[in-house]
Amino acid sequence: MTMQPNSQEARDVAYQLHAYTNARSHQQAGPLVIERGEGPYVFDAAGKRYLEAMAGLWSVGLGFSEKRLVDAAHRQMQALPFYHTFASRSHGPSIDLAEKLVKMAPVPMSKVFFTNSGSEANDTVLKLIAYRSNALGQPQRKKVISRLRGYHGVTIASASLTGLPNNHRSFDLPLPNILHTGSPHHYKDAAAGESEEAFATRRAEELDALIQKEGPDTIAAFFGEPVMGAGGVIVPPATYWEKIQAVLNKYDILLVADEVICGFGRTGKMFGCETFNIRPDVLVVSKQITSSYFPFSAIIMNDRMFEPIADESNKIGVLGHGFTAGGHPVGSAVALENLRIIEERNLVAHAAEIGAYMQDRLRTLADHPLVGEVRGIGLIAAVELVLDKTRKVAAGTPGALGGVASRLLLERGIISRNMLDALAICPPLIVTKVQIDELVDGLAGMLEDLKAEAAKLTPA
Ligand code: PMP
Repeated sequence: MTMQPNSQEARDVAYQLHAYTNARSHQQAGPLVIERGEGPYVFDAAGKRYLEAMAGLWSVGLGFSEKRLVDAAHRQMQALPFYHTFASRSHGPSIDLAEKLVKMAPVPMSKVFFTNSGSEANDTVLKLIAYRSNALGQPQRKKVISRLRGYHGVTIASASLTGLPNNHRSFDLPLPNILHTGSPHHYKDAAAGESEEAFATRRAEELDALIQKEGPDTIAAFFGEPVMGAGGVIVPPATYWEKIQAVLNKYDILLVADEVICGFGRTGKMFGCETFNIRPDVLVVSKQITSSYFPFSAIIMNDRMFEPIADESNKIGVLGHGFTAGGHPVGSAVALENLRIIEERNLVAHAAEIGAYMQDRLRTLADHPLVGEVRGIGLIAAVELVLDKTRKVAAGTPGALGGVASRLLLERGIISRNMLDALAICPPLIVTKVQIDELVDGLAGMLEDLKAEAAKLTPA
């Protein structure tokens, strides 16, 4: 890319270090500068339109031009632009939202703690779990288990929970006390001929063995996304969660459901926990709670969590934890309006219906020679790209094929992200059938363009 001196692109390269970007390639290629949004579309500075098939970062449920969210933020800014919830202070929007979240949770819950991002929320859950174990007189119960390919954030502790190599390598992570067990990725991880059912049983047995090896009374909690997102959109086998929960119950281990992507309709139910009959002690939500119009996250917990924490804070004199902007009145007001819109417009039922349509249409791509698998549920999916369908492998450099595919798709005016060689699809909840057609037709066209590029790559 040739960048004009002093252009936005040149100034971006001059002054920004970008998240999840190869900083050296970026100096050559420059940024894609997005200027405005309209429904599920965004427009770049040159006016080119893109279908945002990732809903930003799996998060802009209501699309990019929902005026009611803007108005809710504006009203709240005028009434009370900031207040906090430290030291027993409170404000209406956080009270209303806490009540709303407890009442809408898919299992009996008791209290909400507000944070500002998915990472902060998971980090806080880890701290609260340690606090709780100390309160219960079980100081040895501090280990937690998450899964390879899982994604729970990027702070030191939440990146440790994350089970992806790029989040650990050269960051000196994971922290001790955070253990990883295998992911429910049948396509990639099952043995030849192993059924989904047998694979789920094996994963539960491996979890049991890990707990036994570490000592059951040292394990405090298990963290998992109902459907794994950033790890490649991994939908677990039907009986996976039931089998995992049986193991956790046997050892009295807490279950934390990270609903940061699944929450608020993504899987075709309000929560991913409903889709998979998960009964967590803690639910972590973010992203789609405000459609990302405001940074926001929340931890919804039951009394099994809350009661010991309350006792410990009473013993010490204070719960020594909290973020300045946690439960921000503007974010709370936006979240309340966002949830109101999701309910009023029946967007969860819409996600189920249009999601089923999207899944059917995407599966028509599965016969393509460069497609290993199409998977997904509701309005979240992945197209796994391969160079060799039988061996289920892409290029020797992981992500090389996926990277070309997402670039070609971008040229066609569709934004997706490759999770290595899996193209993730996660459009806004408001997407229509016509837009799904536009997306799938674009993918089909891109796969044809990809053939020439794929021929230049060597299979792993
Ligand atoms: N948990 C999950 C399941 C996520 O997908 C993400 C973000 N992609 C996070 C946690 C971290 O959220 P944040 O980027 O807001 O810290």
